[in-house]
Amino acid sequence: MNILLLGSGGREHALAWKLAQSPLLDTLYAAPGNPGIARHATCVTLDATDHASVVAFARAHDVALVVIGPEAPLVDGLADTLRAAGIAVFGPDRAAAQLEGSKGFTKDLCRRANIPTAGYIRCTTRDGAEAALANVFGLPVVIKADGLAAGKGVFIAYAQAEATAALDALYANGDAAVVIEEFLDGEEASLFVLTDGTTLLPFGTAQDHKRVGEGDTGPNTGGMGAYSPARVLTPELEARAIAEIVEPTIRALAADGTPFSGVLYAGLMLTAQGPKLIEYNARFGDPECQVLMMRFDGDLAETLLAVAQGRLVEIPGARFADDTALVVVMAANGYPATLQLGGAIHGLDAAAATGATVFQAGTRIENDTLVASGGRVLGVTARGPDVQAAHAAAYRAVDAIDFPTGFCRRDIGWRELAR
Ligand code: ATP
Repeated sequence: MNILLLGSGGREHALAWKLAQSPLLDTLYAAPGNPGIARHATCVTLDATDHASVVAFARAHDVALVVIGPEAPLVDGLADTLRAAGIAVFGPDRAAAQLEGSKGFTKDLCRRANIPTAGYIRCTTRDGAEAALANVFGLPVVIKADGLAAGKGVFIAYAQAEATAALDALYANGDAAVVIEEFLDGEEASLFVLTDGTTLLPFGTAQDHKRVGEGDTGPNTGGMGAYSPARVLTPELEARAIAEIVEPTIRALAADGTPFSGVLYAGLMLTAQGPKLIEYNARFGDPECQVLMMRFDGDLAETLLAVAQGRLVEIPGARFADDTALVVVMAANGYPATLQLGGAIHGLDAAAATGATVFQAGTRIENDTLVASGGRVLGVTARGPDVQAAHAAAYRAVDAIDFPTGFCRRDIGWRELAR
């Protein structure tokens, strides 16, 4: 079959790499793709916001499955359009993608379905937000923009002045939808579950590193590294999170007539009272997807098609290798603020020769040279029998790469390494 993969990041490179291993695949198209994805796919130019053009491309190229990588096209309803056109698509409809697109939607669903999560109040005015802060929550407190903000809409205030500054930022342009939350204390972990709206297939765990600096300091980023599995999410805690958080969510959405089909990514806080939901994403995490794909032993094309066609019950289970995979993100200097772009990257073959797999994100070919074209540039991914070995292998590969205008954190996996 032919597959069309939408996106251009390290997540999509990892998906392309794994899809290309499927015996079911004839041609993989990627839009827009990147130079790494181009090794496994025919990269094409398509405007994902122009839904009709995606449908026309799929029809013209006999595409049996469209895989949507990032969240924006999901929240924008591209999956709805493709389904209405009779094209199988991996990714939820707009209504179900609100789980990621609106924090208020998710919190209300949690309240209805009795799902463990932080206490919260939705506010639309600054006065309402001030009142909620004064009367309900002590410090620290978490203040969030309601919609998609690429990780930049969340403020954790430890002092009153920080809470005021967060409200200044969120209400700078007048009324705005804001969610104020109780602060949850614990360690975070990510849980991935494939679902076609009825059947659930647990699809691995990971822990990411959101802050730009070592020791989890500095501003938030899209993610500077990850490893899988997250052993802190023990089989018992994982089973609890599925039973108490994921299953009731899928059931509630199905009962509302807006079933979720795709991958549900639950961001969990492991608190003293058990796992609580921090947030949902309606797609794979990046870079978490890179470590999941390294360990997934099944046929990705077959599995994602079964999700898209509502036949997940036919897939017996997701097999993951027993080892650990760890990815180190190499970013352009300046990330996540002003980027130094255009810097040359050499040594990817030397890195691959160490046994690692280098996924590409913000890269471009300029005069036959690979150069940085985005904030996160490479995902250097390696495996080992345990996190120590995976960490050592990933940094061996990092050290083989010559990317003078880039940087990485040297401590990916630190929590697990310390255990
Ligand atoms: P991202 O785009 O990075 O996924 P987001 O904008 O969707 O982020 P959240 O995931 O809701 O926002 O929050 C970002 C981070 O803030 C979380 O990963 C967590 O570290 C912290 N955080 C969010 N809510 C809480 C909470 N209630 N208690 C403690 N920490 C929280």
